[in-house]
Amino acid sequence: MAKTLGQPLFANMQYCVRCCMPSSNEGIEFDEMGICRACFSAEQKMHINWIEREKSLRKLLDYHKSLNRDYDCIVPISGGKDSTFQLHVVTKVYGLRALAVTFSHNWFTETGKYNLQNCLEKFNVDHIVFTPNRNLVNRIARQSLVKIGDSCWHCHSGVGAFAMQIAVKFNISLLIWGESAADLSGRSSYFDPVIKFDRDYFTKMSAKVGPEEIAGDTISARELSPWRLPSVEDIERVGVEGIHLGDYIFWDDERQMEFVRDVYDWREDRVEGTYKGYKSVECIMAGVHDYTKFLKRGFGRGTDHASVDVRAGLLTREEAFELAKKHDTERPDALDYYLQITGYTEAEFEAVMLKHRHALNIKGLSDAEFAQAVEEYRSESGQK
Ligand SMILES: [Zn+2]
Ligand SMILES: [Zn+2]
Repeated sequence: MAKTLGQPLFANMQYCVRCCMPSSNEGIEFDEMGICRACFSAEQKMHINWIEREKSLRKLLDYHKSLNRDYDCIVPISGGKDSTFQLHVVTKVYGLRALAVTFSHNWFTETGKYNLQNCLEKFNVDHIVFTPNRNLVNRIARQSLVKIGDSCWHCHSGVGAFAMQIAVKFNISLLIWGESAADLSGRSSYFDPVIKFDRDYFTKMSAKVGPEEIAGDTISARELSPWRLPSVEDIERVGVEGIHLGDYIFWDDERQMEFVRDVYDWREDRVEGTYKGYKSVECIMAGVHDYTKFLKRGFGRGTDHASVDVRAGLLTREEAFELAKKHDTERPDALDYYLQITGYTEAEFEAVMLKHRHALNIKGLSDAEFAQAVEEYRSESGQK
């Protein structure tokens, strides 16, 4: 039996005492007991007066409806399970006239294409989709690795910026996102005033840098126009505000997935880098995105999902560490495609990631500690 059974991958990194979240997670904070913020948020979530929250949601939606513009709101959709759930809530529960907006990463899976089309049919909404050209996506994906240490800047940044552009162009005052930031990151809490969604929200949350930092020798500034945020004046003139439904209604991923699957024929599929088949099922690059996080920070999506399941009481912490290690350390098949479109060799890819890990300078993740733990785990588990 392996000596590390039920233990985290890295012996010298701090992990939350409740879940599997390590100290290398961006923005993580532990309380004096060693419990992370996301675990704390998960507890808060049970004690929130959701009836009151729902009332304030109703009030907010009534206000935007009362403006009586062409559309009551924009629902940014990717084809993920949240998209279908958001559209269900927005159109069926609250009866809003919604414009669905998709910023395509141009990396759609077949399941993702089906789910996207399926929800448009089921909810009968108008839809705008923007797809940046293949060659540009390839060039940005190469830059993205250097600039933010992850394959997906064009998606993280485009989803927010393009929805804002459409809001301004179509004079739509409300953007309705899905999951709460308190669930997503542990960087905010349910008791903080609902996270202020401003112009820079997505840059701060996931894109990290703006288009001006992506532009360079191989990408011109004008090619990046779909990623440019509208001006503050334009946003204020239209009065655009954004909300996350998860701040107003109790969000339960597993239950919602079952609901959209059973009621609206939403489909799941295998996703690299995790054991859950419903997160990021629309994107072929999810495995690479999560693997880059592992190479930088020593954990990937396996840890994210296992920690959520520990908080929900579905796994013990020991079981969760085993699942997390298995998925986090796996080299994704999609990496072959990523290398092909970006022109990186695997050694170059690894060198870029190493630089990012060095820059983060995380305790317990020195080169020797990282290599030893991963090698040991791979040989113990028979993973190649
Ligand atoms: Zn925790
Ligand atoms: Zn990413």
